[in-house]
Amino acid sequence: MKHLSLEQITELRDELSRQLDRLERSMRVTEEAMAPVMLDQTAVGRLSRIDSLQNQGLTRNLQERERVKLAHVQGALRRLDEGTYGLCVDCGDAIPFGRLYVVPEVPACASCSDAA
Ligand SMILES: [Zn+2]
Repeated sequence: MKHLSLEQITELRDELSRQLDRLERSMRVTEEAMAPVMLDQTAVGRLSRIDSLQNQGLTRNLQERERVKLAHVQGALRRLDEGTYGLCVDCGDAIPFGRLYVVPEVPACASCSDAA
């Protein structure tokens, strides 16, 4: 990651740690949102049951998105430690700081991401 300055790397690492914190907190909340439906299956009426299931579907989508994002953030932090951060995982090209600044956990350069 020679194309990144130490300040840029520090800034991106800070942002990634913040995102990791936020994600872990938010995933705990999502999990709690899923829980009541499982516990109250016999207690809730038919309509509210349908309601909860619909909400649960939304929550599950959110949970899936959070899981994917978490994997990306953790992968980026690992690459920071390994010294391969900022290099495209597909072609190995340097990912410009501008792109990393917007999406610090992005694993691939623009042309590889577009191809995917
Ligand atoms: Zn690439």
